[in-house]
Amino acid sequence: MLRSVPIPDQRRLEDFRDPAGDEAVERLREAAAPLKGSRLVQVSSTSFGGGVSELLYSQIALLQDLGIEADWQLLEGSEEFFTVTKLVHNALQGMPVPWTAAFEDAYLDQVRLNAERFEPDADFVFVHDPQPVALLTFLEESGRRTGRWAWRCHIDLSQPMEQVWSFFALHVARYDAAVFTLQDFAKPGMASRVSIIPPSIDPLSPKNAYLDPEAVREIVTAYGVDAERPVVTQVSRFDPWKDPLGVIDAFREAKEEVPGAQLILVGSMAHDDPEAWHFLELAQEHSGDDPDIHILTNLQDVGPVVVNAFQRASDVVVQKSIREGFGLTVSEGMWKERPVIGGNVGGIRLQIEDGVCGYLVDSPGECARRLVELLGDARQREEMGRAGRARVRDRFLIVRELTDYLTLLASL
Ligand code: UDP
Repeated sequence: MLRSVPIPDQRRLEDFRDPAGDEAVERLREAAAPLKGSRLVQVSSTSFGGGVSELLYSQIALLQDLGIEADWQLLEGSEEFFTVTKLVHNALQGMPVPWTAAFEDAYLDQVRLNAERFEPDADFVFVHDPQPVALLTFLEESGRRTGRWAWRCHIDLSQPMEQVWSFFALHVARYDAAVFTLQDFAKPGMASRVSIIPPSIDPLSPKNAYLDPEAVREIVTAYGVDAERPVVTQVSRFDPWKDPLGVIDAFREAKEEVPGAQLILVGSMAHDDPEAWHFLELAQEHSGDDPDIHILTNLQDVGPVVVNAFQRASDVVVQKSIREGFGLTVSEGMWKERPVIGGNVGGIRLQIEDGVCGYLVDSPGECARRLVELLGDARQREEMGRAGRARVRDRFLIVRELTDYLTLLASL
């Protein structure tokens, strides 16, 4: 059997009435009814760091409360495997990478080993992202496939490197359904049924639950941040697509006009992301010795509650990605009533209504101008913050996402 991830917290549907509203709760209850008692397995490549693991802890807990036997299993990989799959991630988001038959073999060998250990006893299997996608191929080839399979793609597939996508497309074609965040990410002529389901955040998780201002102040002060001066935060893996260096450039330019401003860059080191150390070092070098740029990681105990506090302490939340599947950090900031400046790409465009709950930007210079504007206007920040929270409540909470998933599964 593959390793199953323990789910520490429980969730009760009833507890979502307040944050999500009665109607959304009832819709989810109805969508779950026909699936009660079924077994649903989610497969991903890491239980730590990044959006997929953020989502799954809460979703599994809530599915269990809905009477669905939900389990989350991890693909096992070596360092070599995750180096190859990170290349795949980059190639599928449009970066040219040196792709060879040896990489394909290394990828397939590792997934084959996982497939041999996979116990196909589920009614439904949800496979997240490219890493585990070939599992189904090996199960079919050995006559062990059972249940309905959906591939959940979280990345921006709008301009993939064709050679790498055509290799993966053969495996994806075996799935009953492929789920994307945006229509733009789905490829024309896909054999599987295509569904568009944007991700969501859990308003009850330690990352998003209410924290009182005194607790927020205490936490950020402990990390050397001055709560009296303006704070700008970006929370994201150290990855070229998240553009940490561009954020530093934008902050520097803005700081010329807002001299007291501080920047917090928080990034966790995900197990399946071997590039993170390199990009962390680049960010550290790029920030020079500016004491107002705080670069932090989970190695300094920056867990969910601390991230929550940094987001709440921020005057402006930034997610200046140059490619982005969704960007949970955008909804996380909006839920906390912060104006959010985001890169004008992928799923960020879905979340930020430009000029209403924040701004979409195309360059570090534009980001700097919007920072200066927002840092100088408390009323605008407040209005945008309120609009952002309302938008997340309507569209980007876990209750809606699970309703969409269960409706899809019931129809397969
Ligand atoms: N995150 C975190 N600590 C970090 C970096 C990221 O808790 O140091 C969380 C972040 O709050 C969000 C998720 O990891 O919940 C990242 O999801 P997103 O969709 O923004 O990006 P991904 O990593 O999936 O590309």
